[in-house]
Amino acid sequence: MEKKYFIQVYGCQMNLHEAEKLAGMLEKMGYQKTQEPESASLIIYVTCCIRENAEQKVYGHLGALKPYKMANREVIVAVGGCMTQQSGAAEKLHKTFPFVDIIFGTHNLCDFERLLKEKENRKKTLIEITEVNSERECIPMKRDSYPNAWVNIIYGCNNFCTYCIVPYVRGRERSRKIDDVVNEVKSLVNDGYKEITLLGQNVNSYGNDAKGQEGYGDFADLINAIGENVKGDYRLRFMSSHPKDLTERLVQAVANNKNCCHSIHLPLQSGSTKVLKEMNRKYSREDYEAKVELIRKYMPDCAITTDVMVGFPGETDEDYNQTMEVMEKVNFASAFMFVYSPREGTPAARRVDQIDGEISKQRIMKMVAEQNDRTARHSKTYEGKIVTLLCEDFDDKKQMYMGRDEYGRMGYFETTENKIGQFVTIKVTKTVGISIYGEMI
Ligand code: SF4
Repeated sequence: MEKKYFIQVYGCQMNLHEAEKLAGMLEKMGYQKTQEPESASLIIYVTCCIRENAEQKVYGHLGALKPYKMANREVIVAVGGCMTQQSGAAEKLHKTFPFVDIIFGTHNLCDFERLLKEKENRKKTLIEITEVNSERECIPMKRDSYPNAWVNIIYGCNNFCTYCIVPYVRGRERSRKIDDVVNEVKSLVNDGYKEITLLGQNVNSYGNDAKGQEGYGDFADLINAIGENVKGDYRLRFMSSHPKDLTERLVQAVANNKNCCHSIHLPLQSGSTKVLKEMNRKYSREDYEAKVELIRKYMPDCAITTDVMVGFPGETDEDYNQTMEVMEKVNFASAFMFVYSPREGTPAARRVDQIDGEISKQRIMKMVAEQNDRTARHSKTYEGKIVTLLCEDFDDKKQMYMGRDEYGRMGYFETTENKIGQFVTIKVTKTVGISIYGEMI
C-alpha cells in the first residue's frame, strides 16, 4: 500500500499547528498527504476536549471508520491530542474502539515517528501518554496555511479556570527562548509568509516560568525583540490573551511595533464579577473594562474580539445581564459565544447548581442575536472605505478571492490574477454580516 497520510483536526489553532508538525515528520518519512481517508495508509485524529461535543464528534467519526478499518487492516489508525491526555481517556478509547492502533498524548507528539515504527512491528494497540511537561519543536513542519503561519511561544497553562480542562491535558507553562522564537519568525518572513500568529494558551504570561533566566523575558520583550530583529512586509498577531496578564508595557509594545495588528482577542467569559470569581479568572468586571480602556488609550482603532460563556453553574439572570452590558459597552468587533459545557475532572463540573439547558439556550440565542447586530454595524462602518487585505484564499463557492484586514475582518474581491499571499487594496462596496465586499483599486 502506498504511504499516504490523512489527518483530521478538531479544535483550536494549537491543534492545527500540531497537525503541521505531524505532517512534517511524516513527509520526512516518505509519506504523502491525501485529503481522502479512503486512500490513506495512515489516518490520524488530532482531538480536542474543550467541550463535550468535540469529544462526541471524534467518537462518531471513529465509529464510522470502523467498517473501513476492518476491511483494510493494514491501514494504521492513530488518535492523539487533548482528548487522549485526560485521565482514563486512553483506556476508554481503547476499550470502545480496539481497532485504533496508536493512542498518544499531547506530550508525545514529537515521538510519533518512533511510535509508528514500533507499531509496524507489533499487533497490539500502542498507548503512550506521558505527563512530562517538556516540549520539543518537531522541525521540519509541513505548514499548510500559507500566507499565514503559527509559531508556538508558550505551552501549557497555569491558570486553572474552574471550567477548563486545558491545564490538566497540556501541563504547566513552558516558554520558548526569545531567540528561538525570533529566529523562527525571521525564517518564516524570509520564506514569504505574510502573517505570523504567536500562539499560546495565554501568551501574556510568556516568560513567567523562566523569570530571571538568561535568554528569556516577558511578552513585551518578545514583541520588541521581533520588532527589532524581523524587518519586512508582514503582520504579527497573537492569541490568546488573558486579561489579568495584559500590562501597559505590553500594550505599548504592541502599539509601537509597526507589524503588530491592531486587533486583540481578549476573552471576557463573563461580565459578572461574582461569576468571574467562581471561574477563577482573577479579574473583575471593572478590571476587564480598565484593560479595554488601556488598549484604546494606545490604539483607539483596535478591534477587540472576545470569548463569552453563558450558563456557567449558578449564573443568574442578573449575572447574564451584566455580561450583556459589558458586551454592549465594549462594543466587541466580534465574539465567540458558547454555552458552558461541564468537563469531567474540573471543579465547575462538580457543582450542583448546573443551569437548565433551556435557560442557557434562551440566553445564548439572545446574546448571539445582539452580537450579530453589533458585528454587522461594525461592518457597515466599512462601506466606501479603502481597506488593505492580505489575500489568503480563493472561495470556490463565491468565485472570489478572500482576505483579511489588520482588524481580522474578512473581505472578498474579484480578480483574474492569483493574489494569494499578496496585500491587496480594495474599495468596500457592500457589507454582509461579518464580511465586506469590494473592488480592487
Ligand atoms: S487561561 Fe483558563 S480558559 Fe485559558 S487555557 Fe488556561 S485554564 Fe483554560
